[in-house]
Amino acid sequence: MNDIIHLLPENVANQIAAGEVIQRPASAVKELLENAVDAGATQIHLIVKDAGRTLIQVIDNGCGMSFADARMCFERHATSKIQNADDLFRLTTKGFRGEALASIAAIAHVELKTKRAEDTMGTLVCNEGSVIKEHSPIATADGTSFSVKNLFFNVPARRNFLKSDAVEFSHIEEEFYRVALIHTQIAFTLSHNGKTLFNLTASNFKQRIVNIFGNHLKDKLFPVEQSTDFGILGGFIAKPENAKKKKNEQYMFINNRYVRHNLLNYAIETAYKELIPDGYKPAYFIHLDIDPKTIDINISPTKVDVKLQDERLIFGFLNAAVKKSLGTMSLTPMLDFDYERGMDVSNLPDPGHIVAPTVNINPNYNPFNTPKKHDSFNAGTAHTKSELAGWEKFYGEFKAETIDLPSKLNQSDNTLDLNDTTEKVIPTHFFTLNNRYIVASHDSKLLLIDILGGRERILYQSYLEAMENKPVVVQQRLFPETLSLSTADAELLTELIPYLRSLGYDIEMMGGNQFAVNGSPSDIEDENMQNTIEAVLESYKSNIFLYHAEKTANLALSMAKKKASLYKPLTDDSEISAFIEQLFACPLFHLSPSGKQIIHYLSEEEIASFFK
Ligand code: ADP
Ligand code: MG
Repeated sequence: MNDIIHLLPENVANQIAAGEVIQRPASAVKELLENAVDAGATQIHLIVKDAGRTLIQVIDNGCGMSFADARMCFERHATSKIQNADDLFRLTTKGFRGEALASIAAIAHVELKTKRAEDTMGTLVCNEGSVIKEHSPIATADGTSFSVKNLFFNVPARRNFLKSDAVEFSHIEEEFYRVALIHTQIAFTLSHNGKTLFNLTASNFKQRIVNIFGNHLKDKLFPVEQSTDFGILGGFIAKPENAKKKKNEQYMFINNRYVRHNLLNYAIETAYKELIPDGYKPAYFIHLDIDPKTIDINISPTKVDVKLQDERLIFGFLNAAVKKSLGTMSLTPMLDFDYERGMDVSNLPDPGHIVAPTVNINPNYNPFNTPKKHDSFNAGTAHTKSELAGWEKFYGEFKAETIDLPSKLNQSDNTLDLNDTTEKVIPTHFFTLNNRYIVASHDSKLLLIDILGGRERILYQSYLEAMENKPVVVQQRLFPETLSLSTADAELLTELIPYLRSLGYDIEMMGGNQFAVNGSPSDIEDENMQNTIEAVLESYKSNIFLYHAEKTANLALSMAKKKASLYKPLTDDSEISAFIEQLFACPLFHLSPSGKQIIHYLSEEEIASFFK
């Protein structure tokens, strides 16, 4: 019998290797981008057509290749990056296995144009399924351009496994982010089907994150910094309220390489544990620089999974750094509310005579010392002072320092004796300023009341009572309105239906994330129910992150915020005086339910001081 073992032809071996390295268009994108980075480029363009099925092109202004190297680079195990196995533990490059280009060329039509700065002519190489079709000098710009066309042309099974263009392109974008995020000194562009999606100029890390993921992250990023003998940690974590159900904003880089490491991810997520609901994922962008000797990158062909020598040490280090950063950011929740409301002062009269409120922040506030479950927004009614949650203590100081309430108000337990106070508190002279403020005189003092914040407080109080024991009357609608929500919002709304019922909303599930609103409260006209419910759910979600608020308090706050914005301006005196009366009847009437000061009080002396 004849011997039956033979060596596979080179092109077949390459195709088999390609199966590991190039699983989809995004894998080719990753390899080409990494080669461009390794080539020292300062400008990299990624051009994609049809989610990479017809074209993936990467153009760089890096070192380029010689005539011979331009052909050599397609050989398997051809690399300029390592000489021997020991070099694997001195890596400063992305590539080292010398198989990416051989793999890509085995399953696609590749056109390479490259030129070194020192050469007068460049080189063109065309490689189709591991067969060199062309190798000739051409005129071309310094740097390298790889065009990969007709990916998987000779591997129909692979082609059939590809998902829709949308899915494949999202994988490409993801690979682009992973390279572009950490190489902030390199300018990148990405275009798809002729449309430029990203044009990233060289910048710092924070700017790069924002340029990629959008401005909404700008004020939500907090720096993480720590350095020890074995490594330097840097980057940003996002505020808990930014947490999502998906993991898609989690980026960990070690020595400038995007890596996946479950334990390190866990170190970060557990630091957030008390601050975000189960199942939500915090956003983070962290880079760690460690001695290359202590990391093994060569455990999978795609070089994303890594093995760390000191993983326990790094776990503790990372966890502590993230906790420290979270502790610092907890000092700023109040500023968020201002930000959210937009601080629009454009239509105010000359603000010269308005005294800026003083804000006292409690520097000892620590979210990790706060009790987990509490009714965050309802301190005045159900809790004694000693039970106040951390954030209320935090606001407490603010209140004590900045507002001098009329002495006749019974403030001892934060509630008012209505019979005693209404006739004394209700000012006799008042008017509204730009529909934003009530200006009133009381006891030779001047009161300024923020109408929107006051409205929120009044509604909040009434919603709490409605959910406790005085449900709002439902007004049935002649024609039900249909709501169509995202899956996550539909889940949340389903949970809130019984509570919304006591607020006067008759909402019915119809399946497929659709709901019918059969009835609504008659308090104010609400023309866009979809918008209202979405806004309420949005605010509800961020309150979970910020305060772990109890359901009823959270819903009351969220609904109050939305509904307050729908009210028409106060017109006549009887409306204004009814408003003032209702407001002063609320516990904590001087704060909006989200903790913002809504009454400012000026004594005669203070007023006099303006005129000195
Ligand atoms: P590796 O990156 O692991 O070395 P590749 O197959 O990706 O293997 O690339 C082979 C070689 O081709 C690289 O080592 C490098 O010398 C050269 N090369 C690839 N892409 C570029 C590029 N964009 N600019 C200059 N040289 C490149
Ligand atoms: Mg490479």
